[in-house]
Amino acid sequence: MKRILITGAAGFLGSHLCDRFIKEGYHVIGMDNLLTGNMANIEHLFPLKQFEFYNHDITTYVHVPGRIDYILHFASPASPIDYLKMPIQTMKVGALGTHNLLGVAKDKNARILVASTSEVYGDPLVHPQVEEYWGNVNPIGPRGVYDEAKRFLEAITMAYHNYHGVETRIIRIFNTYGPRMRVNDGRVLPAFFSQAIRGEGLTVFGDGSQTRSFCYVDDLVEGIYRLLLSDYHLPVNIGNPDEITIKEFGEEILTLVGNPKAKLIYKDLPKDDPKQRKPHIEKAQKILGWEPKVSRAEGLKRTYEYFKTVVQVPEVV
Ligand code: UDP
Repeated sequence: MKRILITGAAGFLGSHLCDRFIKEGYHVIGMDNLLTGNMANIEHLFPLKQFEFYNHDITTYVHVPGRIDYILHFASPASPIDYLKMPIQTMKVGALGTHNLLGVAKDKNARILVASTSEVYGDPLVHPQVEEYWGNVNPIGPRGVYDEAKRFLEAITMAYHNYHGVETRIIRIFNTYGPRMRVNDGRVLPAFFSQAIRGEGLTVFGDGSQTRSFCYVDDLVEGIYRLLLSDYHLPVNIGNPDEITIKEFGEEILTLVGNPKAKLIYKDLPKDDPKQRKPHIEKAQKILGWEPKVSRAEGLKRTYEYFKTVVQVPEVV
C-alpha cells in the first residue's frame, strides 16, 4: 500500500484530497495545525485504519515515522482576509513549511507535489495566464505575503529538484470552489452564498467588472491526481477557463438561491485586487489529458446544497 502525507489535511482542498487518495487505496497521513482547517472536514476518516492524523505545525521540524512515497503540500491560509489577519504565519508556512517538507521528501525519497497559485501572476498583464508568464506582483502590498511566499515555494521546490534531484511537481491553482469551503473565509463564493441564503446584500467589491474563473473541486482534485502521477516537473495551471465578472457571478447566485430579500450591494475594491484571471490550460490538456468536466451551473448547484446545511439563518422574532 502506497503511503501519502497530506499537509493542510483538514482544509477545504486537503480534506477532498484525503478522500480521493483513500478511495484510490492509499494509506493517508494527514497533517494540519488547524489554524484555518476544520476537523469536521475529516471526521469521517478517523474510523479508517488507512488514515492517521498529526496535529502539527509544519513550520517547525516535521517528523513522520515510516516510509512515505508521496507528499502533497497544501497547508496555508488561502483567502485574502486570512492572509491579511495572519501575514507572518502565511509567509512561514509557504517558506519554512515548504523547506521542511522538501527535507522530508529528500530524506524519504518521496515525490512531492506543492500547491502554488494563480496569485504568482499577481494582477496579470497577460491574459489568459500562461505558465511562462512571470507575473505582476506587488511584494509589499496586502497580498504580497501570500504571493511572495508561493513564489518562494516554487523557487525552493525547483532548487530541491535541480540541486538534490528530488522528484517535484508544482500546481498553480486558480479559484476553486465546492463543499467544505469555510462559510466565513471571506472569499467571494462563501460570502455570496451565505448573504443570499440569509437575505442580505451580496457585497460586490468595486463595480464588479473584475473577472475570475471558477473550478469545481472534483475537477481540481482530478488534475492534482494526474499531475502527481505524471513525470512533469515544471509548473502546471489547473483551473476552469470559464471566465465571469464578479457582478455576473453574484447575479447567478441570486438566481440560484432565489431569496427575494437578497440583492447586490457595492463596497470598496480591496487594494491590489487582480482585475482579471483566467487560466491557460493547454499544458494540462496536453501533458495530463485533463480538462474540467463540471460546468459552473452544476458545480454551483452542488455547492448550494452544502451551504444550505452550514449557513445559520437568524430567526425572525
Ligand atoms: N469579492 C467580492 N465580494 C466579496 C468577496 C470578494 O466582490 O464579498 C471579489 C474580490 O474583490 C475579487 C473576487 O471577488 O475580485 C474574488 O475574490 P476572492 O477573495 O474569492 O479570491 P481572489 O481571487 O481575489 O483571491
